[in-house]
Amino acid sequence: MTKKPRGRLFFANPGPTNIPDSILHAQAHHAVDFMDADFIALYNRCVDGVKRVLRTEQHLFFYTGSGHAAWEASLVNLLSQGDKILIIETGNFSESWGRMAAALGIEVQTVSADWRVGADPAAVQAALAADTGHTIKAVCAVHNETATGMTLSLPAIRAAIDAAGHPALLLADTISSLGSIDFRFDEWGIDCAVGGSQKGLMLPTGLSFTGVSNKAMEVHKSSKLPKAYFNWTAMLTRPHKSFIGTVPTSFFYGLQEAMRLIHDVEGLDDVLRRHHRLAEAVRRCVQHWSGNNGPQLYCTNAARYSDSVTAVLMPEGFNAEEIRKTALSKFNVSLGGGLSRLNGQVFRIGHLGDLNEPMILGTLAVVELAMQINGVPHTAGGVNAAISYLAAA
Ligand code: PLP
Repeated sequence: MTKKPRGRLFFANPGPTNIPDSILHAQAHHAVDFMDADFIALYNRCVDGVKRVLRTEQHLFFYTGSGHAAWEASLVNLLSQGDKILIIETGNFSESWGRMAAALGIEVQTVSADWRVGADPAAVQAALAADTGHTIKAVCAVHNETATGMTLSLPAIRAAIDAAGHPALLLADTISSLGSIDFRFDEWGIDCAVGGSQKGLMLPTGLSFTGVSNKAMEVHKSSKLPKAYFNWTAMLTRPHKSFIGTVPTSFFYGLQEAMRLIHDVEGLDDVLRRHHRLAEAVRRCVQHWSGNNGPQLYCTNAARYSDSVTAVLMPEGFNAEEIRKTALSKFNVSLGGGLSRLNGQVFRIGHLGDLNEPMILGTLAVVELAMQINGVPHTAGGVNAAISYLAAA
């Protein structure tokens, strides 16, 4: 058995994220009949709470499954074999959603983009304008690309669809933005939002959901892709208007507590402000390190910096996995790794969910320590740059 460093695991991953003790305790609930009236009342309060986070008054369906389940639900409920979708390239997660669609028999057209800069909404508009026969049925946009630390402006994508006069649905992946970065389902004209439990909502992995617009519910009625567990029409016949099978009741005790923390204890707007403040402290630190040929922010588009995760690009010739290994094995700090083609090139600092200044400063200090141990060039004192920002902000 390898010797573990002392102290509690310091978790700086971009999902799953830290689970507050009060949520852990809430989930440790004895079994209840999911048809019990008290449970159904609690369940309905959770539905209302999640709708408030999504900022929607339209439909919501839950699934026992991670974010992939909600991805699949969004596709099989809205599309038919041979339909075409337009995926906006952001990074690993836009590619994975596209691969899933292709495996389901959907034709995938991609608006390509430099992962460090992001896609141009004008290119989305051009692709839709060129589709005069309206063969594209949906535009799929990852609101926050967890692999690169970059956001996509959903209002700009909505505007591009409208400017092209195209009827395609707008599907948004909010898995690493919800509860961390401003998201407005109804106001932004989103048709389907894919969300998961294990990031901004601070729960364990395994519960996911989709917000669905009235327009999308109409489209759903004629969708022909095979569906069973994910079938929204079948779900609407069930008492919870979700879940074909047993309702994972423990999750809802946890979710009730998460909604209390977000809406009642802190307030959603303040949750988002906290995420921005901590994210900016991380960025100031990395920008400071970048002097002396040090590591850099992977995202080079300041207008699209992510407030939930920062990907840090290593200097040429240095492997990001070494930093992760040192941080974990010597200091019990878990950082996110580089995904797909970014493996070894970047490590990621997750700054979403249940997080405060000491957790961020501790993580940054350990990254700087790991860089010194591994002889990675950088300008020392990045943590001081973060402190100066936090003191003034
Ligand atoms: N989309 C995004 C943006 C993600 O970050 C993730 C996971 O990290 C997923 C989709 C897939 O979700 P899951 O791993 O919960 O299935």
